[in-house]
Amino acid sequence: MLMIGKIWKIPLNGESKGMVYRVNIGNKYYIGSTKLPLSLRASKHNYKIKNGSKTKFHQEAIKNNIFKVKCEEIYCGEDYIDVENKIILESLEDKNCLNMKVVKQTKERKKELSRKRGDCKLCGKEIMKKNMARHLRQIHHVTKFDIFKKKAKV
Ligand SMILES: [Zn+2]
Repeated sequence: MLMIGKIWKIPLNGESKGMVYRVNIGNKYYIGSTKLPLSLRASKHNYKIKNGSKTKFHQEAIKNNIFKVKCEEIYCGEDYIDVENKIILESLEDKNCLNMKVVKQTKERKKELSRKRGDCKLCGKEIMKKNMARHLRQIHHVTKFDIFKKKAKV
């Protein structure tokens, strides 16, 4: 038991492959992904459940007196995070889905996010482009229009 913490950190294999798994609690279910062997991933969930974790999934297990969950493999591959996100997105409207957060960060998402960011021309801070106007107004007390005017004068 004492060794489990260390074993958990060992990936399934040296590769970038991972698994998407499903845990059934009665007619409700939880979708997750991992690079660990599923029995170890289940142990991690069980540990949290026994310790009264507050997530929707763990709370549902506690409510049903289930302290030993089983992770069933539903997908295995390199794009397991994308597959997981797709399944969870499709299940969002489903009352029986116990997932709380939807999207995990993938390389593509991080790239997408950085495209939406820009540097403030006045202080150099990195800000979401959609929040730039507010930043200029609140922090520097100018509008985008003011900056363009100044540039035009130079
Ligand atoms: Zn600024």
